[in-house]
Amino acid sequence: MRLAGKTALITGGNSGIGLATARLFLAEGAHVAITGRNRKTLDAASKELGKDVVAVQADVTRVEEIDRAVAATVQKFGKLDIVFANAGIPGATPVGNTSLASFEEIIRTNLTAVFFTVQASAAHLNPGASIILNGSVHAVLGVPGYSAYAATKAGVRAMTRNLASELAARGIRVNQVTPGGTKTPIWSPQAPTEQAMSELEQRLGGITALGRMGEAEEIARAALYLASDEASYVTGAEIVVDGGATGAPLGALIYRDSLVAAAKSV
Ligand code: NDP
Repeated sequence: MRLAGKTALITGGNSGIGLATARLFLAEGAHVAITGRNRKTLDAASKELGKDVVAVQADVTRVEEIDRAVAATVQKFGKLDIVFANAGIPGATPVGNTSLASFEEIIRTNLTAVFFTVQASAAHLNPGASIILNGSVHAVLGVPGYSAYAATKAGVRAMTRNLASELAARGIRVNQVTPGGTKTPIWSPQAPTEQAMSELEQRLGGITALGRMGEAEEIARAALYLASDEASYVTGAEIVVDGGATGAPLGALIYRDSLVAAAKSV
């Protein structure tokens, strides 16, 4: 049990990567609190995860609701050791077709709320605590039409390092998981049918060296390492879980027949 006796708060724990992480943390002996806005998925997650899990309906863009979620976690479990600031929204913001409101909603949810989740939790964290932020390969990829989303994730990447240095004196580690395209409900608006999802998987899998999209559990396993004492000397770091999309882009499946074959022929 790698998290025995520890207490974790996971924002956006009712879906996708957050839910997979909640499952894994529980299996590794942690007490877990999850948040989300959607009552239905929150109840479903709560039912699946079991009665000891605290499930708080809270919108991370409202500071008082984050405070309430942290307070409920500490009240139930008596302490807080791990914070996974994972909640986030997608959304395209193409030049020429983006309102101030939609741009700011992405910033508020994916960037501002991450800071305030850390701020609300910090008072309850003790030496040995671990904060994990959820980034994205968008921070470095340069995807057309995604300026706001990419800016939030680049901001999170910078904030990981700032917070790591700021909280180090208190013995609190701050790190980041950086997923590439991962199969979760975040893609549902873009790929609402099975066929659309399968096409998306081919497209996004094609730009990775490993030739496929990631699974939520694969991100959760990186979060588990950072949450656990196995990472006791790791802070200000980023674990990229993207099948090589950013680390080995020219090994991507879509280039195999050209670049890789060409290299072999030299
Ligand atoms: P999901 O859509 O499955 O999960 C997103 C979660 O965030 C949900 O639980 C949602 O709950 C919660 N959330 C969104 N907005 C708010 C809000 N205002 N207040 C509280 N909770 C909120 O997507 P993923 O699991 O894929 O996404 C998790 C994180 O991973 C995000 O930060 C995303 O940017 C990042 N990521 C995902 C990638 C992918 O390909 N899947 C790739 C790179 C990064 P609810 O709707 O109930 O509020």
